Amino acid sequence: MIVWLFNESLSKPIINGLVRITSEDLEKFNETSWQKFRNDIVDRTLITNFFDELAWTEFDKRISEFNRKKRAWICRCCKKSLSQSKSILCDRCLDWIHLPCVGLSSVPRKKIWMCPDCADEN
Ligand SMILES: [Zn+2]
Ligand SMILES: [Zn+2]
Repeated sequence: MIVWLFNESLSKPIINGLVRITSEDLEKFNETSWQKFRNDIVDRTLITNFFDELAWTEFDKRISEFNRKKRAWICRCCKKSLSQSKSILCDRCLDWIHLPCVGLSSVPRKKIWMCPDCADEN
């Protein structure tokens, strides 16, 4: 499966355990490969052994950062982009949600606002 990360000549020694992926190799990952990991199509923990320690740390960091940013700009309810409508931040779970998705037409004049899920839990 590592084959689609690199070209075949690079992948073979990695699969055979002859070399490990280094931080330098990360730059050779193509965009399609990154996307597979970002979208969790591939379980990252299955490929830990292919990386050296430093490369793994860096790899993991890049994926996590990307996923965090992505999540931050998507409505928790409908999973669509926040730019589609006015949004509000839940002060408890820190998720952004479109106002209409929680039945609001404007931002409530409260210091602290909680999404329905968090309000239920409290
Ligand atoms: Zn929404
Ligand atoms: Zn919440």
